[in-house]
Amino acid sequence: MNHEETKALQKRTWAEISLPKLRHNYAAIRAALPESCRFMGIVKADAYGHGALAVSRLLQEAGADYLAVSCLDEALELRKNGVGLPLLILGHTPHEYTETLIDYHITQTVSALAKAQEYSSAASALGKTLKVHLKLDTGMSRLGFLCAPPYFDSGVENIVRSVSLPALEVEGIYTHFAASDEPDAQSETYTRAQFALFEKVIETVREKSGFSFALRHCANTGAVVNYPEMALDMVRPGLLLYGYGDSEGRIGIKPCMRLVTTVSTIKFYEPGTSVSYGRRYTTEQRIRMGVLAIGYADGLPRALSNRCAFAASGGFCPQRGTICMDMCMADLTDLPAVSVGSEIEVFGEQNDLVALSAAAGSIPYELLCAVSKRVPRVYID
Ligand SMILES: *Cc1c(COP(=O)(O)O)cnc(C)c1O
Repeated sequence: MNHEETKALQKRTWAEISLPKLRHNYAAIRAALPESCRFMGIVKADAYGHGALAVSRLLQEAGADYLAVSCLDEALELRKNGVGLPLLILGHTPHEYTETLIDYHITQTVSALAKAQEYSSAASALGKTLKVHLKLDTGMSRLGFLCAPPYFDSGVENIVRSVSLPALEVEGIYTHFAASDEPDAQSETYTRAQFALFEKVIETVREKSGFSFALRHCANTGAVVNYPEMALDMVRPGLLLYGYGDSEGRIGIKPCMRLVTTVSTIKFYEPGTSVSYGRRYTTEQRIRMGVLAIGYADGLPRALSNRCAFAASGGFCPQRGTICMDMCMADLTDLPAVSVGSEIEVFGEQNDLVALSAAAGSIPYELLCAVSKRVPRVYID
C-alpha cells in the first residue's frame, strides 16, 4: 500500500514508517560496532509495531546476520513469507513443536537443562537436529540457566550436560541485561557484574568440557550504546534500530515511526461545557474543539487523558477530556489553520515519543508496540 493510496482510502489514523531512516539506523549501529561483530535485529512484537515482515526484509537486504522474535508464531510469519535469515526465538516453545522448529530452520532458546533434554529427545526421535542458543540468567531473573552464586557450579554443570546432549546443535550462548540503559552508578556496577559472570560461565564451561560457543551475545540497546566493549560476537538491538535509546546521540539514529491522525469534526463550546466520559474536563472559555480519530483502541494510552498535546500545523493542541476507544478531543482554539481533515502528529518528528511516553508513565517501547492492528502501516521509501 503506498502512502497516497492509504490516505485516500481512509484518512483516519495511520503510522508512517520511514524505510530510509530504518536503513540509516542499521548502518549507523553497524558503523559503531567492531568489524567482525554480527548483527541480530530484534523484530519481536511485530518489530516494535513497525511491521515485522517489512523490517525483516529490509534488514535481510541491508546485510543483517540474524533476526530474533519472541515466539513460534512470529517466527513462522517470517519464514512463510520468504525471510531466510537465521532466526532465533527468544521465548519458550513447547517441545511438542520441535519438528516445526527444525523444518523451518528456526533456532530455539534453551533456558534450562530439563528443556534441553526434552528438545534433545524430541529431535532424536525424529532423527533430526535442532539448533539452539543457551540462555543464562546472570541477574535479569527471567528466563535462563541460573548461574549467579550460589548456583554457579550447578549452572555450569547443567550447561556442560546440555551441550553434550544428542540431536542438539548448540550454536550460541547469551544473557540479557536488566539495567544497561540506566545511567546511575549502581546500574553500571550491576551490568558489569552480569557481564563478568557471563564471561566466567563461558570460560568455566570451556575448561570443564572443551566446548566453545560460536556466538556469544548479550548487548541489547542499552549495552550497544553504553558498553560497546560488551559486543562480543553479536549484538541484539531492538529499540535502537527503531530510533530510540541513543541517549547521548553517540550513534546518530532517527525515529522511524510517525503516528498521524486527522480531525473528524470541529465545534465551538461555551464556557462550562464538560467534555467526554466522566466529565473530566470542563471548558473555562469559549473553545474551538476538534474530535480526533484516534483512541485507546488505536494504541493511544487512556492514561494520557488531559496530560498530552499533539503537533499540528501552526503549533501544539492540548488533548482534552478522557481519551475514548476510537476518538479523543483536542483544543484547536489557537490553531486556526487546522480544519476538518487536517493531519495531527500524535508522535514523530515534531512530537517527541519519549516525552509522550513519560506523560503516560511509560516508555517508548510500550507506546510503539501499542499501535494496534487497526492502524495501517504506511511505508515511506
Ligand atoms: C527484547 C530483547 C532485546 C532487545 O532489547 P532492546 O532494549 O529493544 O534493544 C534483546 N535481547 C532480548 C533477550 C530481548 O528479549
